[in-house]
Amino acid sequence: MAMNAPKLRKHLSADALLSRLRSGFADIVDYRPGKPDISLHDALMSAFAMFSLKSPSLLAFDKDRTEGNLHQVYGIERVPCDTAMREILDPVEPESLRPLFKGVFGALQRGKALEDMVFVEGHYLLALDGTGYFSSQQIHCESCLETHYRNGTVTYRHQMLGAALVHPDKREVIPLMPEPMVKQDGTEKNDCERKAAKRFISQLRQDHPHLKVIVTEDSLSSNAPHIDVLHAHNLHYILGVKEGDHAYLFEQVAAAERTGRVTYYDRHDETTGLRHRFRFVRDVPLNESNSDLLVNFLECWEWESHSDKVQHFSWVTDLCVTKGTVYQLMRGGRARWRIENETFNTLKNQGYQFEHNFGHGSQHLSVVFALLMMLAFLVDQVQQLCCPLFQAVWAKMGSKRRLWEKMRAVFYEYALVSMRQLFEALLYGLKKPPPSFAVDSS
Ligand SMILES: [Zn+2]
Repeated sequence: MAMNAPKLRKHLSADALLSRLRSGFADIVDYRPGKPDISLHDALMSAFAMFSLKSPSLLAFDKDRTEGNLHQVYGIERVPCDTAMREILDPVEPESLRPLFKGVFGALQRGKALEDMVFVEGHYLLALDGTGYFSSQQIHCESCLETHYRNGTVTYRHQMLGAALVHPDKREVIPLMPEPMVKQDGTEKNDCERKAAKRFISQLRQDHPHLKVIVTEDSLSSNAPHIDVLHAHNLHYILGVKEGDHAYLFEQVAAAERTGRVTYYDRHDETTGLRHRFRFVRDVPLNESNSDLLVNFLECWEWESHSDKVQHFSWVTDLCVTKGTVYQLMRGGRARWRIENETFNTLKNQGYQFEHNFGHGSQHLSVVFALLMMLAFLVDQVQQLCCPLFQAVWAKMGSKRRLWEKMRAVFYEYALVSMRQLFEALLYGLKKPPPSFAVDSS
């Protein structure tokens, strides 16, 4: 096992990334005049630390904060109390956090850490999906999406379009800066996932003009306007389709079958015992009103050798479908689940508490917190992908929840100098106090 462990990459270690984030936060211009008591970057880094430590609430973070370790490990000079943190972060423009995501991504690229995430021929799989993380009938802010009901009640919600590089063989995902779905300035009309996807894609191309990407999404995205946007931005796609939603497409496939244009391909994997039957056809129109938009269609039935339970999947793609590629395309289409399973579910159920209201604010606080949590998740995913020390600690603890609990316990109990020391304490135990480092003043 040790032979397969990736090499320790120093500038991708937790401590190196924390230092990168600190300077990234320091580059964000403070919107407040003069010299406030607590700097903006201390407030941002404190919120990041709260999510990095998986504090159950802002109040718990405030109560438990151990200034010494927050200073040593996270480089925070002054930690704001819960009220001050909310006040300072509420007016922060969510967009100002984008360089932080880009910075970590750039470090991954330079460290060649993304090479393992390449799916086919230098292309990455990018899974996109929307998710909600806040809903209330009372608490709301300027950014909330609103649903007004006939009986006069209003539901306020926050959603975002999440995006992450995924790979069929890897549990790790690399999240990019999500696109918040918020009420747009000057309009009462609610934002929607399709508009958010359009904004996301144009921003993706600004941030990463040359990144080779295959976008994978669910069947809601299989529509002509969205595919046009993907084409226009030089992005390939594997998008889910459903017979109920894409009746015309499935009729065209049936017609192609009658004229002998479809191909069948059976595959039996001896090691897993899985059997697959594929059916595919090239250049079929996606729908009646956009008959000039031709897509390649593939579908797959999967069952175990000794079972009659069959799973069925279907997609459209602009990539070439042949007997040689169809299996890999199926794997790419199904890797989309990783944005739900490994991203949203991890954030909601594995200690991050994505759906907990850490504070809502009246302007951007809810969105800023969500983005900082995603940033903490990104740093954790980099550790999971690249850091043998983190991997060993995680294996020892057995679960993420237990890992975060132990991490917090050590963080609150012992004086630490770095995240590395914290991981080492968790791996090797802390039978005696960690060494204190004398300062050589000679
Ligand atoms: Zn809100």
